[in-house]
Amino acid sequence: MGLRKPTNINELAYHTQRPLSRKDEDDQSGFCHMWVFKPNCPSCGDGVLNKPKRKAKFFVCDKCGKDFPVDEMILISMGEYDCPYCEHHGEFEEEWVRTKTAKKFKFKCGGCGKALDVGKLSRK
Ligand SMILES: [Zn+2]
Ligand SMILES: [Zn+2]
Repeated sequence: MGLRKPTNINELAYHTQRPLSRKDEDDQSGFCHMWVFKPNCPSCGDGVLNKPKRKAKFFVCDKCGKDFPVDEMILISMGEYDCPYCEHHGEFEEEWVRTKTAKKFKFKCGGCGKALDVGKLSRK
């Protein structure tokens, strides 16, 4: 599979590496590395959207200067994981709409189909 991998942390809006556990357990037998590239500007199509501050609520285009609410952006999350249920090693690439109430990211294991919860994401 051909996931686009980050070469530089500055390309990323979010990035996390963490253990995955089975639902309601604390086994941490799986692992997930997930990253989200900074989105391109929907307005000028040319710029890249950055968050000026870590907790900023807007992305700001580095070309045209327009801002966009972080909580409404459709981001593309990508990652690699080891499933805590079936030990399947897989990759994912999914749209992730980060809303105020759903900052968690979930995806389904390509091996066993169980839902995996990456948990709340921060920048580092
Ligand atoms: Zn722009
Ligand atoms: Zn699985």
